[in-house]
Amino acid sequence: MNAFSYLFIAALGASVVLRLWLAHRQIRSVAAHRDGVPDAFADKIQLETHRKAADYTVAKTRQGRVELVYDSLLLVGWTLGGGLQWLDNLWLAAGWSTINTGVAVIVSAFFIMSLLELPFSLYHTFVIEERFGFNKTTAGTFVGDLAKQALLMLLLGAPLTWAALWLMQESGRLWWLYLWLLWAAFSLLMFWAYPAVIAPLFNKFTLLDNEQLQQRIQTLLDRCGFKSKGIYVMDGSRRSGHGNAYFTGMGRNKRIVFFDTLLETLDPDEIEAVLAHELGHFKRKHVQKRIVIMMVMSLGGLALLGWLIHQTWFYQGLGVSQPSNHMALLLFLMVTPVFTLFLQPLASWFSRRHEFEADDYAATHSSAANLIRALVKLYKENASSLTPDRLYSAFYDSHPPAAVRVAHLSTKMG
Ligand SMILES: [Zn+2]
Repeated sequence: MNAFSYLFIAALGASVVLRLWLAHRQIRSVAAHRDGVPDAFADKIQLETHRKAADYTVAKTRQGRVELVYDSLLLVGWTLGGGLQWLDNLWLAAGWSTINTGVAVIVSAFFIMSLLELPFSLYHTFVIEERFGFNKTTAGTFVGDLAKQALLMLLLGAPLTWAALWLMQESGRLWWLYLWLLWAAFSLLMFWAYPAVIAPLFNKFTLLDNEQLQQRIQTLLDRCGFKSKGIYVMDGSRRSGHGNAYFTGMGRNKRIVFFDTLLETLDPDEIEAVLAHELGHFKRKHVQKRIVIMMVMSLGGLALLGWLIHQTWFYQGLGVSQPSNHMALLLFLMVTPVFTLFLQPLASWFSRRHEFEADDYAATHSSAANLIRALVKLYKENASSLTPDRLYSAFYDSHPPAAVRVAHLSTKMG
């Protein structure tokens, strides 16, 4: 234990207290409004639906609280508790080369971490989602997903880790800059390849084949000057009753994806409005902006790691007695989120601003009234709370609260 240990514990403690307090506020706010649909939605959402959304939100927030405490204790166990050092010793005993040992330590650490998270994803899917009638995941699908994720981690994560450790060892003082270039190239490649290569491993994507709707969508795409090979429908109903639509990929691989669950509930007017919202994200270059921010942050992070890697207090303060490149990388990946949590409100605010811009775009190029109707159906289908706590929402929410968003769109009507 050194001064840095105390700083780490203080930051972790502060983040846990802050997040528990926000969760408490959220549960209190949702429960307090459980028995009355907010005025703005009174004619659109039934009391029974509203109550279900409240109970669902409370159940998820409660699980989140338990998970938060569990994760924080694990993190202390990995670091100050000596878990990482134990894992490192285990692999060092195998007598492999420095880089191979490092890959083994990092990959196995992530593997164990995923295993330790398993009870929570099981509980979420098969208890909470099941209780509220959303779960469609079978045990077979769940196990299959885990196997595919593990395989992806090995096939993509292990070579990337190997390349990172090689750069750290062989490329001299500016290794962090080269590693950043590698990371940037890898992220862009993944981003580009994700819709066509990775997502289809988990879901089936088919081109929307409703001719009438297709034509209408094409008109909107032409009007907005968007070139796309078509709109894809994803079999979201394989895992869950939740519905969504999203924009993904870049270049020739960019696509707009609708969940089949959503297509079933929306009429053509509403589908057009949701599509226009997604086009808004594209037209306002939200994806590019996000990528630039991510790149700048990772460059800053790696430069910081380039300095930390030479500081013995960094290792000792986090329970690691034997400094090495892979331990520096691993500690950095595990501990940074404790400190960056305090930037979360900024990221959420930024994301909500983008949602408003996309809504404005949809209001101009399609219809605000249709988008409002679509959103109300989405809130129902996802049992989203209409009455989140103000601070909780400001801290975490990537989308504006329902009431604020609908009110904003209402000003664009007419
Ligand atoms: Zn959006």
